[in-house]
Amino acid sequence: MPVSTPDTPEAALLAGLDAWRALPAAQQPGWPDLAVLDEVTTELASCPPLVFAGECDDLKSRLAAAARGEAFLLQGGDCAETFADATADRIRNKVKTMLQMAVVLTYGASMPVIKLGRMAGQYSKPRSSPTEVRDGVELHAYRGDAINDYAFTPQSRVPDPRRLLKAYHTSSATLNLIRAFTKGGFADLRHVHEWNRGFVANAANARYEAMARDIDRAMRFMAACGGDFDALRTVDFYSSHEALLLDYERPLTRIDSRTGTPYNVSAHFVWIGERTRQLDGAHVDLMSRVRNPIGVKLGPSTSPDDALALVDKLDPEREPGRLTFVSRMGAGRVRTALPPLVEAVARSGSTVLWVCDPMHANTFESSSGYKTRRFDDVIDEVTGFFEVHARLGTVPGGVHMELTGDDVTECLGGAEHIDEADLATRYETLCDPRLNHQQSLEVAFLVAEMLGDR
Ligand code: PEP
Ligand code: MN
Repeated sequence: MPVSTPDTPEAALLAGLDAWRALPAAQQPGWPDLAVLDEVTTELASCPPLVFAGECDDLKSRLAAAARGEAFLLQGGDCAETFADATADRIRNKVKTMLQMAVVLTYGASMPVIKLGRMAGQYSKPRSSPTEVRDGVELHAYRGDAINDYAFTPQSRVPDPRRLLKAYHTSSATLNLIRAFTKGGFADLRHVHEWNRGFVANAANARYEAMARDIDRAMRFMAACGGDFDALRTVDFYSSHEALLLDYERPLTRIDSRTGTPYNVSAHFVWIGERTRQLDGAHVDLMSRVRNPIGVKLGPSTSPDDALALVDKLDPEREPGRLTFVSRMGAGRVRTALPPLVEAVARSGSTVLWVCDPMHANTFESSSGYKTRRFDDVIDEVTGFFEVHARLGTVPGGVHMELTGDDVTECLGGAEHIDEADLATRYETLCDPRLNHQQSLEVAFLVAEMLGDR
């Protein structure tokens, strides 16, 4: 039978957006009811975009500046957002934490900081095993709120496509609040002190207060000189998530009316995870066709040829800001595993932005059974990342962190010296352990020093 081929460029473009369906797609849920999935994806395809393509382009040009060493990317948020935690308080605490970290970095390094939340869409998770066993009972693994519920009951763990709609609407509400906070006056730099309010007093907060006083004084000085503060009134805060769940990402991929090209309108930036970056796989194919700035996580098993093949597939035009490589090697391996990749990419003429995720290769299980990370390993990996780039004359362009604005006890160490016994007091994540508010500020101060020395 002859295979029908699309006969116009527009039809070919649209057909391309479904090419992934014929390719192996890792980490997808086995939806039990395909008729419901079909209804849901049809409805998603008619929902308004969450972001505008022009905003994605703005982010892309800022990421290009970061790749040149003229800006720095701060990407952060939960490992897995949950529907229950999409409350005003929790969202505000996360936004405040990011704003505080960004101001610490900006002030410490005199460099623009791009704020990119792992927020408003981070609802699906790759898992190392498709099932979870507790006391001899085996159920589907929890794959994120967009797919199933965390409660360990057979009913809760069945993948339910209707949750994709809830993921969309919760992303929409979250992004709306983020936009209100960051455009409506709350992020005005003259409120630099207020972002610290409501957090428990500790050493990092005190250091922040002292810095905020300096910033205040500088701004009063500028005002007295007749300075114009328009640029300080609002903040551009972008959204990102892992583009894991193709039944969600595809209906939210649309043709931009300005350019006639496809954009993923579920977030400004989307990334391909370490477990789904197969060169001939569905994720790489779909992401190769959207025009957003995109990322790929690279773990220690990545070869220079893998990295180069990803550059050729995802950034054939060598477009500045298009491609970000998020290295997650582990504190013990970053100094040896990263250099061959950075060197190979530099030789390719690509303008990739290098970002350090010092979280995902530093996870281990505590003796008390909690998945955790050591604050010192996080800092050591970022330090190694900066060392590698300094040695090679390349640019360490940003950090990618799992953090929350709440006072949780999920990562060990930091100035509060959270120890294994403390983990039990406030361990709330449904997936990976996050830095709490104080640990996040501490990281920002340490990274600001590294950035200042760069
Ligand atoms: C994550 O970012 O939560 C994640 C699963 O990361 P990675 O793909 O790097 O393992
Ligand atoms: Mn994670």
